[in-house]
Amino acid sequence: MDVGIVFGSSGIRGIANKRVTSELAVSVGLAVGSRCNSAVIGRDPRTASEMVEYALVSGLTACGCDVTRIGLVSTPTLSYAARNYDCGVMVTASHNPAEYVGIKLWNRDGTAFNSDQQEEIESIIDQEGSYPIYRGDRVGWDTIGRISNDDRAILDHKDAILSRFNEVDCRVVVDCGSGAGATITPYVLREMGCDVITLNAQPDGFFPARNPEPIESNLTLLMDAVRTFKADLGIAHDGDADRMMAVDKNGRYITGDELLALFAIKEAKKVAVYPVDVSRMVDDVIMCDVHRTRVGDVYVAEELKRIRGDFGGESSGSWIFPRISYCPDGIYAAAQLVAIASQESIADQIAQFPKYYIMRGASACEEGDDIMSPITEELSALNYTQITTIDGIRLDFEEGWLLVRKSGTEPKIRITAEARDKETAEGLYYRADTIVRRHTRC
Ligand code: MG
Repeated sequence: MDVGIVFGSSGIRGIANKRVTSELAVSVGLAVGSRCNSAVIGRDPRTASEMVEYALVSGLTACGCDVTRIGLVSTPTLSYAARNYDCGVMVTASHNPAEYVGIKLWNRDGTAFNSDQQEEIESIIDQEGSYPIYRGDRVGWDTIGRISNDDRAILDHKDAILSRFNEVDCRVVVDCGSGAGATITPYVLREMGCDVITLNAQPDGFFPARNPEPIESNLTLLMDAVRTFKADLGIAHDGDADRMMAVDKNGRYITGDELLALFAIKEAKKVAVYPVDVSRMVDDVIMCDVHRTRVGDVYVAEELKRIRGDFGGESSGSWIFPRISYCPDGIYAAAQLVAIASQESIADQIAQFPKYYIMRGASACEEGDDIMSPITEELSALNYTQITTIDGIRLDFEEGWLLVRKSGTEPKIRITAEARDKETAEGLYYRADTIVRRHTRC
């Protein structure tokens, strides 16, 4: 089988009817159905999601798998529902632009299918011309899977979150970005006692209001609305609401590292888990041990499960609360953030965090080149206090740290440097950059 016909670097994801076709979805459905007796399936509001869902259902049932449909839901709702089935199937392209669609597979405990599980699915799908073809068996006419609908999945997820929080007093603006978060987050926050003002709360696969990725440049409407309505907080989701970012009462975008610190203080009693690129500020303000991982929420979830940690997250907006699931849960995160904000202003809490200056950049390199070895060798000769090689190379010094790692998605070497002031961070950055540039020739 050609590499990558099914799973790419972001799972199964691509432009609808180009990379992700109904043929691919039928084949994936057949392959998953041949390994599972029961599956629950949900979808985000993208224009192709329902088409892909029907193709998946057809494949799943043709291999004898019973399928329960829960309709338009957030990814955390689907993965929470997966606890009652052999697997969960979510049709979503997460935060990607509107023309994308994707499929993500989930285990009962809310972990995504790992690389071994993905390889098993790929191993029974071949490519014939430009079409993927399932090579396994199908069941006889009398054992074709049954299809049912369950309209309680959102309520179950909502109740599971609400049972963990007390009543709050908070005015909050929620920007659902026309995504699946509109089916749950405003309702959860209202039941907690919040005065909720919604933006873009009509799911729409064209994402007419904003790009689904909840980065600062996409959230100007939310920032304005928080100030206009004198809210305590603004919440924003990506297209499938596994991610959540926020703005404070002044309309200022709260960084991912600041959110990570706020959640870790509240949730992590023993161990917090986060990637190697997170700010030293978080280490400074939390009281528990830290386990660092490769960059990517899948690695954070794996490590959390392995060590039975309390909380983990990634600065891009993925927050994992193992007490509910190993799937990043933007809805639970929104509930926890309003609970934190109702006790003390988020802006005041963040003002007490130590300040660091962080610098990020990248250098293009040749595809497939193993240039990290000579770069690592040269960086290792520097006079550091600690070295970490979980993902690329991170060197800690008294005055700050730097990280040099190969991008997982582009032919680039990424450099991050952080220190208490700009000059020191720049100094660290350019030390690494000089070495990286010597080895990248494009
Ligand atoms: Mg997402």
